[in-house]
Amino acid sequence: TSRHYATHRTAGSRSTPQTSIDKVRNIGIIAHVDAGKTTTAECMLFYTGQTGRIGDVDDGDTVMDFLEMERERGITIQSAAISFTWRDHRVNLIDTPGHVDFTVEVERSMRVLDGAVAVFDAVAGVQAQSETVWKQAQRYGVPRLIFVNKMDREGSNLDSTVQSIRGKLGGNPLKIQQPIGIDSHFHGVVDLVDMKVIKWEGRDGENVVVEEFSPESVDKVTHKKSLEARAELLEALADLDEDIMQVYLEQGDSGVTSDMIKGALRKYTAELKCQPVLCGTSLKRKGVQQLLDAVVEYLPSPLQTTQPKATDKDNRPVSVTPKKEAQMVALAYKVIHDKFRGIVVYFRVYSGTLKSGSTLLTSRGQKERITRIYEVNAQDLVERESIEAGDIGAATGLKTVATGDTLLLMQDANREVKLEGITVPAPVF
Ligand code: GDP
Repeated sequence: TSRHYATHRTAGSRSTPQTSIDKVRNIGIIAHVDAGKTTTAECMLFYTGQTGRIGDVDDGDTVMDFLEMERERGITIQSAAISFTWRDHRVNLIDTPGHVDFTVEVERSMRVLDGAVAVFDAVAGVQAQSETVWKQAQRYGVPRLIFVNKMDREGSNLDSTVQSIRGKLGGNPLKIQQPIGIDSHFHGVVDLVDMKVIKWEGRDGENVVVEEFSPESVDKVTHKKSLEARAELLEALADLDEDIMQVYLEQGDSGVTSDMIKGALRKYTAELKCQPVLCGTSLKRKGVQQLLDAVVEYLPSPLQTTQPKATDKDNRPVSVTPKKEAQMVALAYKVIHDKFRGIVVYFRVYSGTLKSGSTLLTSRGQKERITRIYEVNAQDLVERESIEAGDIGAATGLKTVATGDTLLLMQDANREVKLEGITVPAPVF
């Protein structure tokens, strides 16, 4: 099977300057098989304009399905990441294998994520594998947004899915949307942060109609449930945040501004104390634009995540700062064999700047020269001069580098550094 979907770059992307670190989001999608990881990723690409058309999953010709096929045939996986632009941000969507047998691989890729979207099936709720990947994300300190997918299906139930995430996974899911219409009539949400009504129209849900929340803008039941859900959200945030608690007690709902809510959701999501919940149907392309908004709004940038711990050859701690001028420290997170380019090493730069042509010292003591460096775009590697701290990229010319290796510049060899490679404190279970 060939990849016969059309791919085009958004105009001018080749010459786009490096996005500033605070506008980079390194994310993965984690889910139980069949929850809709592929469809959600495809839908994101559709809305960000990276693919000319998106295949229907059931045709088996989508970007991610191609990866599945390669995996089954034992061919190396082509795409370790896909990048796109959303509202001025650069989103690096890193492929995390979702199957239980790829657990080690999942853990490796968790290391490079600053955040994740956990996709659940609104009918099936929490399933065995969702538990596995959820725990891995927790263990590696990966902040999460929850996307309850398949809201169009009969028997879908957002509230019971949320409850089982709380009960079975021990999460703190906070609903930030109330669905409008159920099953095949699902067509919008009430945004509980801004108190806006969002409705999708058009074949691909591409027309987003936004109205102020009022008794006229939604049906009676949705109106009542939205007010209840809003109160629940504020109470949950008040439990986490003293400032919100005080304002809420003194002035009630009206005193708490949407900026306060957003700030608290950002903070406590990054600290793994809560997970904002959104809903939609990626098959019908409803809710995914709001999910992308939430990714850039609530998931942390590389500046806000805990940096990996590193030590030098004498075991002294070394600071890893996400600044382009700092000492270069990178982690190879995936190595693949590309038909045309040979060995391609996917890496994340944690600090400093990695330039093409530079000579590296790897954590296995090898000296290696990078021939070319690439930015990762949808289905395409775009050659660049350098990749800066916080971003991910790919490199050719490296023959001995393996997954999990720390990469340094040869010129820093006397300061030999080893990354513990994990973006978090100690495992929690
Ligand atoms: P993955 O295994 O998590 O990557 O799941 P897929 O994206 O391949 O989806 C699994 C199945 O669920 C496919 O048959 C999809 O067409 C279907 N599916 C995905 N999203 C939705 C949705 O929002 N609604 C409905 N009804 N079906 C969906």
